[in-house]
Amino acid sequence: MPFWYKAMNYNTILFDADGTLLDFDSGERAALLGTMRQFGLSPSDGSYALYHSINLEKWKLLECGKLTTGEVQISRFADFLACIGRSELSPERFNAEFKQRLSGSAILIDGAEEIVRTLSATHRLAVITNGLEKTQLGRFRISGITDCFEGIFTSEAVGFAKPAPEYFAAVFHELGLSGTDGVLVVGDSLSSDIAGGAGYGIDTCWYNPAKNVNHTQIRPTHEIAELSELKNIV
Ligand SMILES: [Mg+2]
Repeated sequence: MPFWYKAMNYNTILFDADGTLLDFDSGERAALLGTMRQFGLSPSDGSYALYHSINLEKWKLLECGKLTTGEVQISRFADFLACIGRSELSPERFNAEFKQRLSGSAILIDGAEEIVRTLSATHRLAVITNGLEKTQLGRFRISGITDCFEGIFTSEAVGFAKPAPEYFAAVFHELGLSGTDGVLVVGDSLSSDIAGGAGYGIDTCWYNPAKNVNHTQIRPTHEIAELSELKNIV
């Protein structure tokens, strides 16, 4: 074997979107504050934190199958508007305006474009995201890296959400993958990406830029603090 030869550990990489490739928080904050102003509400310092905690709770309920994607969208704003004493406003209309603004936002995480462009030359790449079809596809289109992926699989279109094995089974089917060998899941969420991948028998890489301590029983195969470190793993 020549000295420069390095076998690839993986041939297919499934990337989470938000918090892994896309900086969701910045876009989400701008979309929320813009929507509030549109509805004649004055955002306060706590507005985004309030929305953020309600939204997180709703997506956790989706992860464990207690809410549908549609219910998440409406109930998060019904709760938010109730909390700020404006429950007379329509959560449906608020959600529509918010989504419109959010789908126009696509701020990439540091190093995301470079690593995805580099790896797309040698690996099959796809996106696995618990999110809304129109919003996520719109954001990826703007991000300019859509061409690097064989598919962008949203939980809304698949009908199941990470970490459900049915979600991964659908993605494997779409990509024509017969086994989990050579496949790697990369994501920032232990509960959806890492637990989901591990539960389906896939190697996982936890993207942990804040270097949080893992207090869970969920054990990723790899852990990185910067996306560029992926080069050493794949
Ligand atoms: Mg994420």
